[in-house]
Amino acid sequence: MMTKLIDAFLGCWHSRYSFPVTLRGSARRIQAASLTGTYVVCLDCGKEFPYDWQEMRVIDSPAERRDYVAALSAKQAA
Ligand SMILES: [Zn+2]
Repeated sequence: MMTKLIDAFLGCWHSRYSFPVTLRGSARRIQAASLTGTYVVCLDCGKEFPYDWQEMRVIDSPAERRDYVAALSAKQAA
């Protein structure tokens, strides 16, 4: 309870994630999964993040999201 309150005021470190969940078809409309088709949930605050299976990492910042999209289009162009 106290931890939740502190998270709300100071922000969450998102240090613990659920196991990655992969969605198919229309379920990909969940925003966090729309990028990679896979997402993880922060066990502390419940926020959802896109997850990159290939790199095995969580995409948790706008900069990483940009990198992912850039890498993806580079792959498709090759
Ligand atoms: Zn969190």
